[in-house]
Amino acid sequence: TAAPLGTSVIPIVNKLQDIFAQVGSQSSIQLPQVAVVGSQSSGKSSVLEALVGRDFLPRGSDICTRRPLVLQLLQTKRNADGTEEEYGEFLHLPGKRFYDFSEIRREIQAETDREAGGNKGVSDKQIRLKIFSPNVLDITLVDLPGITKVPVGDQPSDIEARIRTMIMSYIKIDTCLILAVTPANSDLANSDALQIAGNADPDGLRTIGVITKLDIMDRGTDARNLLLGKVIPLKLGYIGVVNRSQEDILLNRSIKDALIAEEKFFRSRPVYNGLADRCGVPQLAKKLNQILVQHIKKVLPELKSRISSALVAVAKEHASYGEITESKDPVNLHFTFMIEGAISRAGQGALLLNILSKYS
Ligand code: GDP
Ligand code: MG
Repeated sequence: TAAPLGTSVIPIVNKLQDIFAQVGSQSSIQLPQVAVVGSQSSGKSSVLEALVGRDFLPRGSDICTRRPLVLQLLQTKRNADGTEEEYGEFLHLPGKRFYDFSEIRREIQAETDREAGGNKGVSDKQIRLKIFSPNVLDITLVDLPGITKVPVGDQPSDIEARIRTMIMSYIKIDTCLILAVTPANSDLANSDALQIAGNADPDGLRTIGVITKLDIMDRGTDARNLLLGKVIPLKLGYIGVVNRSQEDILLNRSIKDALIAEEKFFRSRPVYNGLADRCGVPQLAKKLNQILVQHIKKVLPELKSRISSALVAVAKEHASYGEITESKDPVNLHFTFMIEGAISRAGQGALLLNILSKYS
């Protein structure tokens, strides 16, 4: 996987999970959802796919995403022999594991047609897909249909209003991070993405601007001022990306090759010199990671108090076993081992609590 989301956050989240496991608690940390918004064919699905680092979403020049896709990434352990397994599972097909990601794409398409028909219809009924992999962070990403203005095919006359309502229902939630996707070959002042993101997040605290299609801008123009926030300022700023073109899709170009090509694109254009932190999918992943780390820091005091109370519970457990062992009943030998376990668990818990303090 080439530039997946979470590379720097996974170790922190894993550490937290370890701590919770050691004090005997399953619950750990809830990361915010990430949703993509923008007009149709702006590149939303392409951006999500690049962030996940796998090819599995329907993309194309026509309307492809016609139902909300709630994509839950779930981290799994590597196999004992070091090999790894990545697979997807749909809520509507429980128990069926998809190891072939192009089959996942076909199933998204088929399931879209089942609910929304084969003729461009749109439905707000979710498709829910879990991806299990050792290389991902436990996070939920939402791919949404794009905003369209003119009804086509089976779309009702109020299609624009319906799609806007659907998008708002996701991005109005005040923990949802919004990737507002606008193609560089359109006017930012007319951006549907920035407009709807602005409605949901007027202070711009959770909106990241993503400018796609830098490779197909008009000759003689560039996205420098857009990326610098000189056209429309955005608190969290903008990242420019180059995703695969329709031709690349038809040629089955891999995500890895696309990332190499993107890197080369930025390197070979002097106008983007000095803007390296605003250019490319890896930078977008980095920005998201930074925001996730901020989020973790924010919820840390609450996590700490949950760990502390779990430690108190372990100590109490220890005390009650202590009394039983005093009775010298051989049956209680078993409990002695449990006490030792509890003590060492508690000890490590306290130690890890200190490690945790480093992040606050
Ligand atoms: P969505 O409708 O917003 O989800 O957009 P898609 O991700 O399906 O992309 C729409 C079309 O734009 C597809 O044909 C993509 O290949 C193409 N596309 C997306 N991003 C870029 C880009 O950065 N450069 C180029 N040349 N084409 C892109
Ligand atoms: Mg799409």
